[in-house]
Amino acid sequence: HDKKENVVWYDGKLVPLSEATVPVLTHGLHYASAVFEGERAYGGVIFKSREHTERLKKSGELLDFEIPYSVDEIEAAKALVLKENGFVDAYVRPIAWRGAEALGVSAPKNTIHLAIAAWVWPSYFTHEERLKGIRLDIAEYRRPDPATAPSTAKAAGLYMICTISKHKAERKGYSDAMMLDWRGRVAECTGANIFFVKDGELHTPAPEGFLNGITRQTVIELAKKRGIPVIERTIMPEELSGFTESFVTGTAAEVTPVSEIGPHHFTPADITKTLLTDYDNLVHAAKNAA
Ligand code: PMP
Repeated sequence: HDKKENVVWYDGKLVPLSEATVPVLTHGLHYASAVFEGERAYGGVIFKSREHTERLKKSGELLDFEIPYSVDEIEAAKALVLKENGFVDAYVRPIAWRGAEALGVSAPKNTIHLAIAAWVWPSYFTHEERLKGIRLDIAEYRRPDPATAPSTAKAAGLYMICTISKHKAERKGYSDAMMLDWRGRVAECTGANIFFVKDGELHTPAPEGFLNGITRQTVIELAKKRGIPVIERTIMPEELSGFTESFVTGTAAEVTPVSEIGPHHFTPADITKTLLTDYDNLVHAAKNAA
């Protein structure tokens, strides 16, 4: 085959993707002692790159390990991966995990590894899904109480619930699932945060027990710049019928309109379209400025 294989930055070296492997007896595989990031480069520039790297380091600390590379080193490594693969618009996936030396639950001396991969991933949802608005199921499992798990870490273990929920939703013909938190309040989707619109105001769950996404924070800033009131509060599933618009936000999902959540219907309108466009313009701004 004539296509050059992608390269991955792996513990300080660039290796072909097929050689970037882990031993079967890896602690991170058995006990989910792994943390990761999801980032997007637009026009060769990773949007909010440093924030993602800082969150990665913090996620590691929450799992009781220190990633043995500085923020600056990780920043340089991510740029190298994009450059070596010739990627301009791409998704970047750093992952850090506890290695294979000891396989007891306690393995404080195991090596902490870091790998950074990248690939071209145009949109998390298909173009068709995005235009029509995605349909969301309501997940059976809930986001855990922050007293139960380090819910602000982007930790591999927390995604077990997300995969189960998304698979279940997809089998029923939905694009994704909206998850409630441990108290039964609206929380987030399996890989994105959620917003609602009512009477010209933006409502979104207060980030208690789920990832306060970088895209979520960006969209809140964009709404404020537009003079759209933003209300972060408790949202109960019974309230969904009172909202007219809904959308999800995430690095991979960007701003994606929602058309249905269970029995509730929404129509993407002014606020969703404005914020979708503002987000698009912002992420491309670095490229346009260059
Ligand atoms: N919640 C979950 C569960 C996610 O996986 C993501 C994607 N990282 C988000 C929210 C959104 O986070 P961000 O905007 O930082 O990508």
